[in-house]
Amino acid sequence: RLGRKKVKSNIVPEKSENGGWRKDGDKVDLAEQSLLNKLIRHSLVRNRNQVEVLQRDPTSPLYSVKTFEELRLKPDLLKGVYNMGFNRPSRIQENALPMMLAQPPQNLIAQSQSGTGKTAAFSLAMLSHVNPANKWTQCLCIAPTYELALQIGQVIEQMGKYCPDVKLAYGIRGNRMERGIKLQEQIVIGTPGTVLDWCTKYRLIEPKKITMFVLDEADVMIATQGHRDQSIRIHRQLTKDCQMLLFSATFEDSVWRFAEQVVPDPNIIRLKREEETLDTIKQFYVVCKEKEDKFTALCNLYGSLTIAQAMIFCHTRKMAAWLTANLTKEGHQVALLSGEMTVEQRASVIERYRNGKEKVLVTTNVCSRGIDVEQVSLVVNFDLPVDMDGNADNETYLHRIGRTGRFGRRGFAVNMVDSKHSMDIINQIEMHFNRRITKLDTSDLEEMESLMS
Ligand code: ADP
Repeated sequence: RLGRKKVKSNIVPEKSENGGWRKDGDKVDLAEQSLLNKLIRHSLVRNRNQVEVLQRDPTSPLYSVKTFEELRLKPDLLKGVYNMGFNRPSRIQENALPMMLAQPPQNLIAQSQSGTGKTAAFSLAMLSHVNPANKWTQCLCIAPTYELALQIGQVIEQMGKYCPDVKLAYGIRGNRMERGIKLQEQIVIGTPGTVLDWCTKYRLIEPKKITMFVLDEADVMIATQGHRDQSIRIHRQLTKDCQMLLFSATFEDSVWRFAEQVVPDPNIIRLKREEETLDTIKQFYVVCKEKEDKFTALCNLYGSLTIAQAMIFCHTRKMAAWLTANLTKEGHQVALLSGEMTVEQRASVIERYRNGKEKVLVTTNVCSRGIDVEQVSLVVNFDLPVDMDGNADNETYLHRIGRTGRFGRRGFAVNMVDSKHSMDIINQIEMHFNRRITKLDTSDLEEMESLMS
């Protein structure tokens, strides 16, 4: 239990998808996680699921576009889109863009995992929506944190590169403005607190003149009570004709209730996450005595296989640091992802690992949660995933192991077993997934090679 935060007994920890608590009691910072994903993402995530569309008016035709031309955008905006390297709309954009650009305006609630093109979609909608000749704020977009607002702003600036008359202002802390002077920028992107001040206290924005309101990362937003209330207070000042758009990566009941409060008569678009599967993954366990023994097993494993990239999970920061130090001593190039690092530091570690600068990534669970790193050929559970009661944490197991064997490639998962208790956990996991986990003797090179080929 070293290095773990205690949870107050009256709080029932939940999955990270439900407001930031994990079953093992560690608080996950959803905004940080989201920022990290944005920083390490350079392209769309793969998702083969069908987009589900629920129209407010089911009798009206459902438009979807396969090209950006079909949207009849202003040429300067289209140029900006192509300049970003976008050839055609993403899955979610195919349906969301025509709805967001429709006349008369339609409200939209859209949910899909991070990396599926939501930000690009509403940035495009805002840029297309504004009338550059009108020198007042017409589009208002709010995001949960300063950093996330900046990220969105960058997308808008890049996409609007050839639309010099469209201006953007950042409603974030530290951006001081003079009271009472109306902003001329057509688009304001910011955090709820500052934007609310700009609308009410400072009167820089006239809420009645806002015709498009975007609320991004609704799930992250409502995880902070203050943000939730501020968002609703901003929303209350808008007219009922203002077009409301709300985006979220997850969609549990609390997000849903909030969305319905903010977005009347919505169209709804959902793209479910692609399920992780164990089908293409060979699973093994190695019996060890203590951490030194585990380390030897790991080195044997590594020495005998041609491993492209490996990811190793430890229980505590201390263990992760110990393992990294020892692997480095053995001459391996190791990247360490650890909780005390800033988001930027973590992003650069992941980036280096992705680019193959290091072949091994050692990480604690909390810190790697929700990160998509592809092309891992070996996942090692140096410590097995357990919940607060010491039982197998199947969900985390699947999430860790699911990093290997993606997109039809084959992958390997190796679990280090160092006690009767951890053997029980392996059995629980086997039963849960109804998949065999094979015993591996890492000192028997021949056996290992034949099993893992
Ligand atoms: P989300 O907001 O859902 O997390 P983003 O809009 O940030 O997704 O898009 C994820 C990544 O995919 C970004 O790097 C973005 O530049 C890129 N992207 C978005 N739309 C497209 C598209 N139509 N074609 C190619 N890349 C895209």
